Amino acid sequence: MIPRLLLVEDEAALAEMLRYNLERAGFAVEAIGDGAAALERIVERPPDLVVLDWMLPGVSGLEICRRLRRRPETKALPIVMLTARGEEDDRLRGLDGGADDYMVKPFSPAELVARIRAVLRRAVPAGDGELRLGEFRLDPAGHRAWRGGRELSLGAVEFRLLRHFLARPERVFSRGQLLDAVWGREAALEPRSVDVQIKRLRAAINAAGEPDPIRTVRAVGYAFSSKPAAT
Ligand code: CA
Repeated sequence: MIPRLLLVEDEAALAEMLRYNLERAGFAVEAIGDGAAALERIVERPPDLVVLDWMLPGVSGLEICRRLRRRPETKALPIVMLTARGEEDDRLRGLDGGADDYMVKPFSPAELVARIRAVLRRAVPAGDGELRLGEFRLDPAGHRAWRGGRELSLGAVEFRLLRHFLARPERVFSRGQLLDAVWGREAALEPRSVDVQIKRLRAAINAAGEPDPIRTVRAVGYAFSSKPAAT
């Protein structure tokens, strides 16, 4: 699934430039230039993350942030605030208001993309609860995983990959997204290394000749199916 972003920015040229870059980075973007309209839209159809400008006509970004945090349905909605002000004071106020991260204008679109990815990654429940999907079971705290009754022998990276997949079944991830989620963006790795790790993960989870739950999506990446079909 492509993450859906709501971009709330009244400066049309900036909104257009950001939309272009965010879409190019693989996000679906809806842009709104007015605070009150943005609030309505979020309630009507909550996005995966809101990129929120501080200075808006009508309701300010900070006020929107506070209102979203007060509502149970939007309490945990990831928010990245944008502002022209660089004062430490405002930064703190923004984070106090409940923003997950904060960008001071001018910033590079690439940096915004990186921050958005990091916030989205943190937003996914990464608790220590056991994960179950079909015949798979994974215990994050104990670092153990099973397929049916068979305990899987997994290296650290394969374990993280499996955990990432089990928490998000059926979703298609690009190699870049998997690199980002499993290794972190500081890792200087080629997208091709993902293929190597997927191959190892497949070898481990399908060792007894079971159907392969990992689907290769041509020209895109990989997805994990809860109901693998035997081939
Ligand atoms: Ca503005």
